[in-house]
Amino acid sequence: SDAGYQKDRVVTEEEWLRKWEMGNIGFHKEQGHPLLQKYLDVLLNGRSGLRIFFPLCGKAVEMKWLADMGHSVVGVEVSEQAVKEFFSEHSLPYFEEPVPEISGAKIFQSTSGNISLYCCSIYDLSSSIVGKFDGVWDRGALVAVNPCDRQRYVSLMISLVEKSSSYLLVTVLYDPNKHKGPPFYVPESEIKSLFG
Ligand code: SAH
Repeated sequence: SDAGYQKDRVVTEEEWLRKWEMGNIGFHKEQGHPLLQKYLDVLLNGRSGLRIFFPLCGKAVEMKWLADMGHSVVGVEVSEQAVKEFFSEHSLPYFEEPVPEISGAKIFQSTSGNISLYCCSIYDLSSSIVGKFDGVWDRGALVAVNPCDRQRYVSLMISLVEKSSSYLLVTVLYDPNKHKGPPFYVPESEIKSLFG
């Protein structure tokens, strides 16, 4: 399809870390995402006390929103700087521990216990480590994954959700000949084939 121009592009973990170091984080939304507010009911579907997953979480403020509503939030982010900024910018005390199952990984947990952020690559996670989730907020995540890794990413996400869970996915629509991404353009037909 017309997204072919981006299919070989790779952004390495080092490049992501460097974006954080340089403050090159135009994707971060200080105000939170209006689409989460708009579709919150779809995500929650009348349920309370959910486990909600934020893949490639950055320092998304929506994690604080959902935790404040009584849900338990789990995120994964490769940049330790991002994770630490999340807790400090919300004045949340936290502690950090190694993750025994993943070499080099750390988990940062709010002392209140309702926000746990894994600092490692998402591809290091599995349901035996993080369990399964009732809801997913995928914004800046599928569209940030390297095009060659999309199927692997989606298969992993499917393995991390319950049958009854809701998955909110935010994508962007633009001419992929004009920007190299990320965010990458993921055509709707590809989303359908990826998720089945
Ligand atoms: N979802 C967030 C951040 C979007 S930018 C938001 O809405 O603001 C994508 C983020 O994914 C970056 O912070 C980057 O450091 C992180 N990232 C990239 N590759 C990753 C990987 N393989 N595992 C975990 N995090 C990753």
